[in-house]
Amino acid sequence: RKGNVIITGASSGLGLATAKALAETGEWHVIMACRNFLKAEKAAKSVGITKENYSVMHLDLASLESVRQFADTFRRSGRPLDALVCNAALYLPTAKEPTYTAEGFELSVGTNHLGHFLLARLLLDDLKQSDYPYKRLIIVGSITGNTNTLAGNVPPKANLGDLRGLAGGLNGIQSSAMIDGGDFDGAKAYKDSKVCNMLTMQEFHRRYHEETGITFASLYPGCIATTGLFREHIPLFRLLFPPFQKYITKGYVSEEEAGGRLAQVVSDPSLTKSGVYWSWNKNSESFENQLSKEASDAEKARKLWEVSEKLVGLA
Ligand code: NDP
Repeated sequence: RKGNVIITGASSGLGLATAKALAETGEWHVIMACRNFLKAEKAAKSVGITKENYSVMHLDLASLESVRQFADTFRRSGRPLDALVCNAALYLPTAKEPTYTAEGFELSVGTNHLGHFLLARLLLDDLKQSDYPYKRLIIVGSITGNTNTLAGNVPPKANLGDLRGLAGGLNGIQSSAMIDGGDFDGAKAYKDSKVCNMLTMQEFHRRYHEETGITFASLYPGCIATTGLFREHIPLFRLLFPPFQKYITKGYVSEEEAGGRLAQVVSDPSLTKSGVYWSWNKNSESFENQLSKEASDAEKARKLWEVSEKLVGLA
């Protein structure tokens, strides 16, 4: 049978390119988990994904209620779940004030981390029950969470501190809207959320890999300077960022190539190692990359897991 893969945020950028790459193999049915149904349908058509290879299901990661509903709807579809890709993300680098999810968490961490945390936890059992030869849970990471790289050292740097803001509910009222308890900074909130993504992947691996056989992995797909991720940035940045990445840093990668990389992490039989953060070298060969000190801090990962459980109502 075909594999079934859920991809969040498959209506644009990396998620869409990955959906296309997997659907084209003829071996996957892609469930596009998107907040904008119509946009997702149009996107699938625009890149030529054929009808029998995808379905769109509504998911708004900025609402925990929507995440729970999505998990129920998916289960009622009767499809087994063989792979889950947590890809959607929001980046608000120019926001002066924080905005919030339905439950009142700062929007970028609420969407990128907490929404995905609940989704992955709810669907873990479904993955466990799959009889597919490989079962994978992939959480898209980023170099911006890696302070051991040049790009990860561009200020403001990611830093979760002692998680006091998160523990306080990240609501900008009783607690700060930032995980570390500091003043709101939209670019930092995004980077912090990506560190959470990478810590979460590793904590899943420690808690569940042996028992379930599920492969948990993360990746940095390269700098895909043309995606919608930068839509909130100032126009001059959006104009100069792609050529800067292409010719100066040479970290640029096209949406198609990045989609191929993520598709590889989802389906390549040679990439089944769990607990790994994948990157690609100049020749487009995958390798296991090192994470920064904070993004590989096991104690912080455990604490993040426990605090997140409380916030999303699992503990
Ligand atoms: P895009 O903005 O193109 O795609 C992000 C997707 O997330 C969109 O489909 C968007 O939906 C969706 N999304 C946003 N908020 C929600 C929500 N509340 N509920 C459901 N879906 C939501 O960006 P990219 O393709 O670049 O980003 C994809 C991933 O790649 C992210 O995890 C990002 O951190 C990562 N990444 C990107 C890099 C880059 O250079 N672009 C580099 C490293 C990592 P909609 O279409 O409705 O807006």
